[in-house]
Amino acid sequence: MNNRTPVGVDTPGIVAGRLPDPVYVAQFSDSHPPLTSSQALVEAERCYGCYDAPCTSACPAGIDVPRFIQRIAQKNIRGAAYAILDANELGGICARVCPTEALCEQVCVRNTQEGKPVEIGLLQRYATDTYFVDPGKPLFHRAALSGKRVAVVGAGPAGLTVAHRLARLGHNVVLFEAKPKLGGLNEYGLASYKTTGDFAQHEIRWLLSIGGISVRTHQMLGRDIHLDALRAEFDAVFLGMGLAGVNALGIPEPAASGLEEAVDFIARLRQCDDLASFPVGRQVVVIGGGMTAVDAAVQAKKLGAREVTMVYRRGESAMKASAVEIDWARSNGVTIRHWAAPKAVHSAEGKVTGITLAVTCEQGGRLVESGETFTLPADMILKAIGQTYVSEPAGAGLMLQDGRIAVDEQGRTSLPGVWAGGDCVAGGLDLTVDAVRLGKLAAFSIDATLRAADGAASDALVEESCHG
Ligand SMILES: Cc1cc2nc3c(=O)[nH]c(=O)nc-3n(C[C@H](O)[C@H](O)[C@H](O)COP(=O)(O)OP(=O)(O)OC[C@H]3O[C@@H](n4cnc5c(N)ncnc54)[C@H](O)[C@@H]3O)c2cc1C
Ligand code: SF4
Repeated sequence: MNNRTPVGVDTPGIVAGRLPDPVYVAQFSDSHPPLTSSQALVEAERCYGCYDAPCTSACPAGIDVPRFIQRIAQKNIRGAAYAILDANELGGICARVCPTEALCEQVCVRNTQEGKPVEIGLLQRYATDTYFVDPGKPLFHRAALSGKRVAVVGAGPAGLTVAHRLARLGHNVVLFEAKPKLGGLNEYGLASYKTTGDFAQHEIRWLLSIGGISVRTHQMLGRDIHLDALRAEFDAVFLGMGLAGVNALGIPEPAASGLEEAVDFIARLRQCDDLASFPVGRQVVVIGGGMTAVDAAVQAKKLGAREVTMVYRRGESAMKASAVEIDWARSNGVTIRHWAAPKAVHSAEGKVTGITLAVTCEQGGRLVESGETFTLPADMILKAIGQTYVSEPAGAGLMLQDGRIAVDEQGRTSLPGVWAGGDCVAGGLDLTVDAVRLGKLAAFSIDATLRAADGAASDALVEESCHG
């Protein structure tokens, strides 16, 4: 422990070290601590093992939930991990970040009986965490090698899923990633208190251990590599580049310090090894009403900001963040102000000083300004008003829908031999587990297409014994 004196929450400006060191540790510890073995056994016993289980249908990755929970109850943790990772290779991180209240746990029949679902996310985490501590012999084996090569662009949840699934099916994969680290938003986006330690990288090391996946980092499509060249060199190409752009505020944005994209703030924080060295404002305003806004606001508060206010232009029911996330923000001391839209960002001497907001209301279903305004003092303003797909790197040949890549139900794009999935395609849920779903669909379609080209039927995966 060092002897640093905290500067305190009242110091104006954007400064580091507002809190005592032990407080940072506590603030950024696991938001949902894992179950102990005995808690997991008790919780597993609550599962009825429903036939045609609604939780499985509600899981975008299609995990057979009753099956893995039953295996936990039988103390067959390897078998439980198999059931999870067979359907969702990122089942470890999904167990931490899935909004289970809107997915598997929302439809658990225990809700109607006891008002409390089986804690599916926590049980999934128990099984995968326990398995990852000592994986032993490989859980999955590669099918006979096909001799086919697939280029995967983007190593976020979608690209990682495709890479692992295709490697498992016997194809060789080259994974191209623009950033220095793999993981996409698992590594650079998810809130620190949801994915403590180095879990994202730990999971990726396991995923790559299947073999057959060559990794090339610092390789950006459109700069270092080009779609036409990939199509010529590889048997298939998968695009999983996520959303690299952000929406503009729509008002003049001064070139002042303290005005930042929330995703950049979160990414810097995720890569910071010493939270006491991470600067944060005294009065922080976060613009937006989604998951990114909540994560930025809560983390600013946990870093020691005195006041954090989320401002959102419509009412609470229109917020993209779930009720659980909104409660989480409030319980962490974040103030939420609805019906407020940015009007002017103020700055002095190159630093942000505040923001004026227009009071809004709905008239005939349209959002309009009422004519009233109010101003919030701020030394830090984080913009979280949505991310966008940037089409330039992939070139103009791809058909778009709603500003993202248009794909069919198998993830095929308008270009022959090119598939896409995850946040960069139209029609998804913009969740980690949904990127896994879309990646799986594309991987199976790529596999079937490559095998059909050879006149061979797609081999079925053979499940190894889970009871050994
Ligand atoms: C702040 C934040 C918090 C979130 N929290 C949650 C949560 O709690 N729970 C949840 O379920 N979902 C959450 N999400 C959503 C979730 O993270 C995404 O839906 C998911 O990561 C999408 O996966 P992806 O693989 O499509 O894209 P990404 O994760 O964005 O990965 C895309 C990858 O492609 C790379 N790339 C981009 N362009 C290029 C290029 N030209 N060449 C090469 N590589 C490129 C990127 O560097 C990145 O590694 C959150 C999102 C954000 C922004
Ligand atoms: S992956 Fe997510 S949605 Fe699916 S069962 Fe697990 S926690 Fe629920």
